[in-house]
Amino acid sequence: MRKRVSILLLALSAILILSQAGFCPTSPEVPQVEVFFSPQDNCAREIISRIDDAKSSVYIAMYFFTSRPIAQALVKAKDRGVDVKVCLDKEQPAYEYSKSEYLRNKEINTRLVGGSGIMHHKFCVIDEHIVITGSYNWTARADLENDESLVVINSREIVKKFLKEFNQLWQGVKIDTYKYKDKTRMEKVPTQDVIKSFTQERKESIYIGHKGTKKFHRPNCRFGKRISEKNRITFSSRKEAINQGYIPCKVCKP
Ligand SMILES: [Zn+2]
Repeated sequence: MRKRVSILLLALSAILILSQAGFCPTSPEVPQVEVFFSPQDNCAREIISRIDDAKSSVYIAMYFFTSRPIAQALVKAKDRGVDVKVCLDKEQPAYEYSKSEYLRNKEINTRLVGGSGIMHHKFCVIDEHIVITGSYNWTARADLENDESLVVINSREIVKKFLKEFNQLWQGVKIDTYKYKDKTRMEKVPTQDVIKSFTQERKESIYIGHKGTKKFHRPNCRFGKRISEKNRITFSSRKEAINQGYIPCKVCKP
């Protein structure tokens, strides 16, 4: 046993020495991972220092982006010749503190994306070998108030997957997410019970209307969920809502 351990250690140290010397292109890559938490770890500083170190590219898919210091770091990166691309959720310009306009004014390549749901990612790929991701949106609130996680992974293999996702968003070829909804997913669900409860839920599904705006939503729409008890009206079908003069929400498209 002891002999086996020492052989293993010898092999590991050989791999380490060779990989540090750059002689080991065929061995599987060992990702380097760092983890930070908000508010205690100053996550914004971690992000900015990596953007400041970027040499060739910074590709971002970020749901909420309101952080001025991070936006400024991106402008600095662009000014020194780094290729900066930012994907934001299509509804972001409507938010008061969104940096979408600032980025466009500073001529940062920015695209608004989103399919049937929201573009809820929070990731950033730097120089095609580092990915920064986690629950952390690029906002002051995430930095100073919230409990958030931020994971920094240095791995070309893992980054490849993030780049693929980024490119699909950037090129707008991921818009049609409807086709992944219910049917194909449910075929993969293992037990009949779950399928039964799902179909039951669908049958009973209700639409939520706002008595003031006369708009109606799917039950999972975040605008629908926000309607107060006072203004709330429910419908058992789409037809019922329309018959009562309600119009479908443009976001959840009921
Ligand atoms: Zn809605």
